Amino acid sequence: MNKRKNNKNRNQGKKRNRTDKPYGKQPAAKGKPKGKRPSNKGSQQTVTTTCSGFTSDGKGIVQLDGQEVAVEHLLPGEKAEILVSKSGKFVNAKLKRVIDASKDRVEPPCVYYYACGGCQLQHMSNDKQEDFKQNVVDELMKPFVKPEPIMTMEHPYDYRNKSHTTFGLNQKRQVIGGLYAQHSHEIIPIDKCLIHDPKSDEIANTIKGILKSSKMQPYNEDTGQGFLRHVLIKVGKVSGEIMVVLVAASPEFKGKKKFVQTLRNAHPEITTILLNVNTRSDSMVLGDQEKVLFGKGTITDTLCGLKFEISAKSFYQINPVQTEKLYGKAIEMAELTGKETVVDAYCGIGTIGLIASRRAGKVIGVELNKDAVKDAIRNSKRNDVTNARFYQGDAGEFMVQMANRGEKADVVILDPPRSGSDEAFLSSVAKLKPKRVVYVSCNPETQARDMKYLEKNGYKVEEIQPVDMFPQTFHVESVAKLVRK
Ligand code: SAH
Repeated sequence: MNKRKNNKNRNQGKKRNRTDKPYGKQPAAKGKPKGKRPSNKGSQQTVTTTCSGFTSDGKGIVQLDGQEVAVEHLLPGEKAEILVSKSGKFVNAKLKRVIDASKDRVEPPCVYYYACGGCQLQHMSNDKQEDFKQNVVDELMKPFVKPEPIMTMEHPYDYRNKSHTTFGLNQKRQVIGGLYAQHSHEIIPIDKCLIHDPKSDEIANTIKGILKSSKMQPYNEDTGQGFLRHVLIKVGKVSGEIMVVLVAASPEFKGKKKFVQTLRNAHPEITTILLNVNTRSDSMVLGDQEKVLFGKGTITDTLCGLKFEISAKSFYQINPVQTEKLYGKAIEMAELTGKETVVDAYCGIGTIGLIASRRAGKVIGVELNKDAVKDAIRNSKRNDVTNARFYQGDAGEFMVQMANRGEKADVVILDPPRSGSDEAFLSSVAKLKPKRVVYVSCNPETQARDMKYLEKNGYKVEEIQPVDMFPQTFHVESVAKLVRK
């Protein structure tokens, strides 16, 4: 029930056969044609061809009329019928029927898989998913060292500690809750997502039930009428604490007491409930106004032996089981002896820095998001950490200032967003000359780009460890150790 990317198939709740999969829209690319030439059927053409490989986001590659085209849900080696349509330089290709299935193909365990784009790899066996992600990282890291075998998840489901559910009315004016369809604001009703914490879906379903039996209306984006837009649920996997954020279109919550009481009676495990008011018309889930309706307004969870307070808006890794493996590896790569000055850049709520502080002389954290910095400072107090300082600002600018002031850092750990770091940051690292740089990344493509810069400026990549933080999706995390040459 996340607000993740989804496609437009709206045939809910039914198992789909392999012919009603969505279009993959891909720009045309050069290449030699393979397979049969398309037979013309109106504006669309059906072509039989064989898949030659994977794109980096897990789609199958086919060659059509000299163009390399990506097809969702197709596996390398599979012979299939593809429905092709062209518009200008764009080619859309959709899997119509698999003729020779790969041994790696499995029946997706989720009944919504082909309607919801949140997961992209459920049609592959777990081994194949592992293989695919390993290859993505191996390919990108060819200029450096051979990456270690990917750290996989023993039970690659139920892992997300955060979920979003959107509410609305269907054409029969019945209340529905689920996901937005891809590139649209049409809601796909979903009762259970296999990668969510199961408790969060139970709570979202209860809220749907309360909406159905009360006069409260879900918000309608077109008319601007109604009240409840989304529900955001965060679960502390270790603490068992649960936060429910009701995202509404206005602060006037009629029947608030009864709603909160009914929800708490049904789920005594909920530890805090908040009202967030979102009057925006873009796709942001949360608005600025927030009011605590029950409990303390935050939840606490334990990660690598430390306690972290998590607020509605701050970033917290969504797969804590794999995060412990990732952070464990990052700390190992930092080779701390208790004396080092460590920079934790793009530090979020301070998780990596605070975990490192136990083995470092001093930690300096920098983060752009004000709320996250406040959480980081609170988290250092909560864990009695006295050798960490957190600053709000752009990591690049902060590092430039550090370098200009001639400050010293022994280890720099960075964990930037998908877009990666920037030249201001990386050039300052080269000036500060830390002995080691540990680069944690949720996008190995930008990680490889940035590491190339660091290799040209005094560093050598020594070790790369991929981690599967997001099973069933094409995303892959990677942590790398760089040492000063
Ligand atoms: N290390 C943290 C957070 C990683 S997510 C953890 O593991 O939980 C990346 C973080 O970078 C986010 O918190 C985001 O707010 C922050 N960020 C994005 N751009 C930034 C910038 N230019 N300077 C500093 N922080 C930035």
